[in-house]
Amino acid sequence: MKYRSKVLSKRIINKDTLVLELEKGDIRFKAGQYLVLSFPNEKEAREYSVYNGENASTIEILIKTLPEGSFSMRLGDLNVGDPLLIDGPFGFFVMKEHEVKTKPHVFIASGTGISPFRSYIQTYSKLNYHLLHGIRKLDDRIEPENYPDDKLTYCISRETSPYFNGRVTDYLKQQPIDKQAIYHLCGNSAMINDVTDLLETNGIRPENIRTEVFF
Ligand SMILES: Cc1cc2nc3c(=O)[nH]c(=O)nc-3n(C[C@H](O)[C@H](O)[C@H](O)COP(=O)(O)OP(=O)(O)OC[C@H]3O[C@@H](n4cnc5c(N)ncnc54)[C@H](O)[C@@H]3O)c2cc1C
Repeated sequence: MKYRSKVLSKRIINKDTLVLELEKGDIRFKAGQYLVLSFPNEKEAREYSVYNGENASTIEILIKTLPEGSFSMRLGDLNVGDPLLIDGPFGFFVMKEHEVKTKPHVFIASGTGISPFRSYIQTYSKLNYHLLHGIRKLDDRIEPENYPDDKLTYCISRETSPYFNGRVTDYLKQQPIDKQAIYHLCGNSAMINDVTDLLETNGIRPENIRTEVFF
């Protein structure tokens, strides 16, 4: 049964990225899961990872509006009070409870792929993590104030900046690879394939590489 939710607030992050805060109702999700959103009386639907923590009283969704795409633009046009149907939660991109406190975690995201990682970080307060965020430009940063400076590395591929200039794969090639860590990858499939190859070449076992492909 789909839950008929509504938009509680809308937060603009940058020119093409926003956060919708939605009524949670009885929905209970695990950090890292996604929801399927649709508009009332319509069949078209899309998946969106939950951006905030399990214990929050509302649900946040991080959305990149794509001019070439139909659905995300319509989400971007929603206003406070507008209805939205939620199905789910779905998915298995969740942390293993016994690893939460016992292992170091490396989160590697491209673009909106940062969403499940913010949910992990908000849910598990004592997490030993480092977040690598691959974006094209400085303006594509997504709420950096959510992460301590020493836990977040930006890899900026299409303009020169004070941060690392290049893709996440370029960054990883220049760093020692932590053999004890669990690697969590989320975002576009090209990044996920390239990083998986690189990690496996460096001796990381496949079971210690967890992935969620957005597109
Ligand atoms: C499990 C899962 C979780 C997802 N979580 C999120 C999320 O948290 N936030 C989010 O914005 N999207 C997320 N997506 C993608 C989302 O479901 C839609 O595909 C996206 O919003 C585009 O829909 P559209 O109809 O606007 O464009 P479409 O016509 O469906 O897609 C247009 C093109 O845009 C590209 N694209 C799709 N998604 C993105 C993206 N996020 N960033 C950049 N390019 C993209 C693809 O190349 C695609 O061919 C997720 C997808 C999956 C499978």
